[in-house]
Parts: sequence; C-alpha cells; structure tokens
Amino acid sequence: MNIIMLGAPGTGKGTIAGILSEKLGIPQISTGDIFRKNIKEGTELGKLAESYISKGQLVPDEVTIKIVEDRLNKPDAKNGVILDGFPRTIVQADRLKEILKAKGENVDITINLETPEDEIIERIVNRRVCSNQECKAVYNVVLHPPKVEGKCDKCGSDLITRKDDKVETVKSRLEQYFTSTSPLVEYYKNEGILYSATVSKTINKLGEDVARDLIEYLESK
Ligand code: AMP
Repeated sequence: MNIIMLGAPGTGKGTIAGILSEKLGIPQISTGDIFRKNIKEGTELGKLAESYISKGQLVPDEVTIKIVEDRLNKPDAKNGVILDGFPRTIVQADRLKEILKAKGENVDITINLETPEDEIIERIVNRRVCSNQECKAVYNVVLHPPKVEGKCDKCGSDLITRKDDKVETVKSRLEQYFTSTSPLVEYYKNEGILYSATVSKTINKLGEDVARDLIEYLESK
C-alpha cells in the first residue's frame, strides 16, 4: 500500500507516518529527513538543500523527485511506502504517478491533515526533535513533553529545535504550503483517494488519536 501524508508543516505528518509505518510494516520516506541527514553529513545535496531549507523555500522539483525515485526503487519499498512530505507540488505529484505506474503501482490513499493556522505556529515553535538521526523522535514541550527535559525518552539523546522551526522561517514555509502544496488536496480529492482528518487540541485530537482512527479505517477497507 502506498500512502501519502499531506498537510501544512507542524500538522503531525511525521508522527502519524511513524505510527503507521510500524503498524503496517512499510517504510516511512521523509524527504525532509533525507535532506537533514545530507546537511549533517555535509554532502553536495546537503549544501544545496540547506540553501533552500534555511529560507523556508522548497528544494527544486528535479532534485527532490530524483531522490524519491531512487528511494522507491530500493528493495524495502516493494510492499509499499508512506511518503511523508512528498509530493509538495503538482509537478512532483504528476511524476510520482508516473514512477509508480512504471512499477505497476499507484497511490492508494492520501491523508490530509488539517490544523488551525494559529495552532500550527504554536506547534512548530514548541517542537523539539531528537538529535539522533536514527531515532528522530518528535516532542512538543507543551502537548507532548519528554519525561526528562531536553532528553529523548526513547534513546536518551539531546533534544534540539530544528533550524527551520524559527518563527521567520515558519512564515515562509506556511506561504509555500498554501501556494505550492495545498492545491494537492483538490488533486487527490479528484482522484477519489483523499482522507482528511483534523489534528487539533481544541477537539482533543492529536497525532496519536488520528493515527488510531486511521488504522481502524484502513483495517475496515
Ligand atoms: P519537512 O521535514 O517535511 O518539514 O521538510 C523540511 C524542508 O525540506 C521543507 O521546508 C523544504 O524546504 C524541504 N522539503 C522537504 N520535502 C520537500 C519536497 N517534497 N519538495 C521540496 N522541498 C522539500
């Protein structure tokens, strides 16, 4: 099964993708994580990606598509994947369709996460991530704090704030989302494969609750 996680930054795509990945036994492919790993390792891709990410802009389509195409051809992707943060433009969505078609596959479901905008900013600013690239656990200092301040519950490594989670960068990331990515909601709705869910503290639904609903939904299909 091929699943896409769609939604503005900070809506909980990564958290939900992680839970689904464990439950369904298929890999989570996060383009953001791939870029961050390359930035940390100082590769050419990392240098290029950082020049866009630090400004809250999207990494060019041709670069991102190539990475995903290569990743989808790895053996562990043969039973399906959870794409977390890809596609983010119509061009990426069109290419994804072609890449999957060539493998005799398609996108089965697109999960669209919706969160009120003021809550999104609060969620991003309060987000802390595990500095251990192998762990990548995500916390929120208000909604989902770690047991010991500044330390990851799972592996004990330091928690850090992502560089692009600064308020100034968040604003351009949100603008990018509304201009380039949100048209994908209509795109996948027209394909009849859109599942929308609200992630919001006001209705008492956070990532884990939405993941539970989703697993129930997928199992009932
Ligand atoms: P994320 O971890 O998904 O929030 O991604 C972090 C940053 O990586 C984004 O703000 C973009 O600059 C870049 N990025 C991640 N995925 C994509 C994509 N599919 N297309 C273009 N840029 C991306």
